[in-house]
Amino acid sequence: MTEIIRTYEDLEALIKKTYVTPDLTLVKKAYEVASRAHEGEVRFTGHPYMVHPLAVAYKLAEMGFNMNMVVAGLLHDVIEDSEKFSLEDLAHKFGEDVAGMVDGVTKLKKIRYQGVERYVENMRRMFIAMASDVRVIFIKFADRQHNLQTLYARPKHKQERVARETLEIYAPIANRLGMGEMKGEMEDLSFKYLYPKEYDWVQQIMDTKVREKGVQITRVIDDVEQYLKTSDIKIIQVHGRVKRLYSLYRKLQHRDNDITKIHDLVAVRIVVSDVEDCYAVLGLVHQKWHPMPNRIKDFIAQPKPNGYQSLHTTVFVPGGETVEFQIRTEEMHELAEYGVAAHWRYKETGRSQPKNLRWMEEMVAIQKELADKKDFMEQLEVLKIDVFRDRIFVLTPQGDVIDLPEGATPVDFAFYVHTNVGNKCTAARVNEVLVNLDTPLNSGDVVEIITDKNRRGPNPDWLKFVKTHHARERIREAARFGMKSWFAHMMPKSSNKEKPKKKEKNKMEKTVKSENKK
Ligand code: MN
Repeated sequence: MTEIIRTYEDLEALIKKTYVTPDLTLVKKAYEVASRAHEGEVRFTGHPYMVHPLAVAYKLAEMGFNMNMVVAGLLHDVIEDSEKFSLEDLAHKFGEDVAGMVDGVTKLKKIRYQGVERYVENMRRMFIAMASDVRVIFIKFADRQHNLQTLYARPKHKQERVARETLEIYAPIANRLGMGEMKGEMEDLSFKYLYPKEYDWVQQIMDTKVREKGVQITRVIDDVEQYLKTSDIKIIQVHGRVKRLYSLYRKLQHRDNDITKIHDLVAVRIVVSDVEDCYAVLGLVHQKWHPMPNRIKDFIAQPKPNGYQSLHTTVFVPGGETVEFQIRTEEMHELAEYGVAAHWRYKETGRSQPKNLRWMEEMVAIQKELADKKDFMEQLEVLKIDVFRDRIFVLTPQGDVIDLPEGATPVDFAFYVHTNVGNKCTAARVNEVLVNLDTPLNSGDVVEIITDKNRRGPNPDWLKFVKTHHARERIREAARFGMKSWFAHMMPKSSNKEKPKKKEKNKMEKTVKSENKK
């Protein structure tokens, strides 16, 4: 893969094109400071080090982020790699805001990944970073993206590690933040290194299919443009989009690897000015082409958990082929590509703030609240409101963050931690208070599982309330081994080690009683 090298001049030209009144002296100063800090350093690709910060800053400018972020992008490796400048120096030269972001990125880099803890630890750091300043995450994404583009120059084990980490951690976070474009780019770049054979296979399918469908799609786009002109709906844009490779690969896995079952390989996007027009266009499309049953999806009335909105429908076009249409407003389009990041794109680029971004405004309000770094628990609780709507984050007493579906219970938590903890669990403390095992957990809860080593296995009744597939499987597995017989005589028996405090005693009895009943 050929790497596109950006020079300072490229960056300056892009900034002039994108921003209304950019502070170019600040950018120039950042470039000079970074050049001095990285002087003589060579990247593993053989290029001078400055190629990397320039690429990161270029990406951030390309996404239309505000100037301070572009400046922080140029400086993001200065503190770690160089003794020449301190954080105070940067604060003095570029202000606290820029220095704060560089500090955040530097802290994230200090994580050393080891074993199973790696994932949890990483999530936790990313999450804390996001809670204090989500812009740090965007810089980290741009950084990761360039490192993926230059991954060809690294040894194989390193390639695999970086690619896996990207697929497991970075891409899901980008997805939760609604950043479809960033997610897609990172996934495809990683896919190639992690599953080279599958990548080639999907690439080949895509090449053939796109060649086949390309002509037809062009015709459909022409047709639909002509057709919609006869209505008085203002059409802002009609364009084709090709599915991303990794996304296609994942979908094929769920469709018996049968390409004929994939209907959105190539889609036609229609962008209009408001929600009413979306539905009007949907109606017109259905009048012209017959819709395929069960393929109409209203993500406007029911947005995806990450905020994605659009109308989707698949129709039969002449020749018996099917084409998916995605109908959305400009705001929805921005949101689909940039998600939470869309907010930062508007401030300095002179474009108008889109309406209908309530959840993003909430996010910004939350960011402001978090600026004075309140308690981490509170941060988690607040953030749950929107971005992580469908997931909760609870903590072990050691402070590791565990990511569970909403409604998950202490039993789900216990099995997540370890099968043995699940099997031997008898009670749970949430925020130091004893609770029943079926109590739904909330983000920010500190969960401690009380186990009894004499307990021989999980209670099959737990199946009634567990939320995770993992816990359900473990409980079923234990049941299959015929553990029911011992169950009758093993209760009641609370942990000997864990003497309940007076005020908790009632709850403890309740826990045991309710277990007995089952
Ligand atoms: Mn970097």
